[in-house]
Amino acid sequence: MTTTTAAPYACRWCGIGEREHMQRSKPPVGWHPWQAPTQEQIKTRMLLRRAARLAERAARRQALFHATGFWTGSSLSPEDEGEFICRDCGSPACARLARVQRHLDRIRWPQSWREPFLF
Ligand SMILES: [Zn+2]
Ligand SMILES: [Zn+2]
Repeated sequence: MTTTTAAPYACRWCGIGEREHMQRSKPPVGWHPWQAPTQEQIKTRMLLRRAARLAERAARRQALFHATGFWTGSSLSPEDEGEFICRDCGSPACARLARVQRHLDRIRWPQSWREPFLF
């Protein structure tokens, strides 16, 4: 699939970079000289590459746990209570983090409540 991985300025016909094209000493059947891609091709390739990069990043983010967060507020300014930010995606509105925290709260609360009765 040369269309999705081709560098923006790779050959118009086969998607191989100019330098690599020149290094092919024995031209195979269907050989052609490197030719500059059209503006439209360059634009399309750039967009495809960007889309692939974004998809990869989204997939990587999806693979994380989104189970821990931290408060952005600084102890130096008590009036700034900050936001609880997901450690994996950096968002204060991470739905997966919220779900994990709700679950942890359900486990923690009865425990802290019951503890005095253990002694
Ligand atoms: Zn070519
Ligand atoms: Zn998250």
